[in-house]
This record gives sequence, structure tokens and C-alpha cells, in this order.
Amino acid sequence: MLNIKRMVAEHKISVCKNCGAKKLSHRVCPVCGYYKGKQIITIKSKNKDKVVDA
Ligand SMILES: [Zn+2]
Repeated sequence: MLNIKRMVAEHKISVCKNCGAKKLSHRVCPVCGYYKGKQIITIKSKNKDKVVDA
């Protein structure tokens, strides 16, 4: 598991501007797949309505 407190202290954590989740700086958000305002990867959701298989 990641040590969030330590990573925050080291400024390696940022907040996703799309969904608000904490994520690694300079990394695609693992929750929504956005990075710098663009959808980089598609996150498969358990909600069938939101599944997008490109
Ligand atoms: Zn996000």
C-alpha cells in the first residue's frame, strides 16, 4: 500500500481536477482516467451504463 501521508509531504500527491480523487502527481488519475483535463485511459466501471470499451 502507498503511504499517503508521506507522499503528500513529499508533494507526490495531487488532486484530480476531474473527479477530486487523490492521485500521484504527473500520473493519470486511476479513478477516472483523466490527466491534465483529458481522458487518457478508460476506467471500466461496474456500472454497465458507464462502461466504454473503445
Ligand atoms: Zn480523476
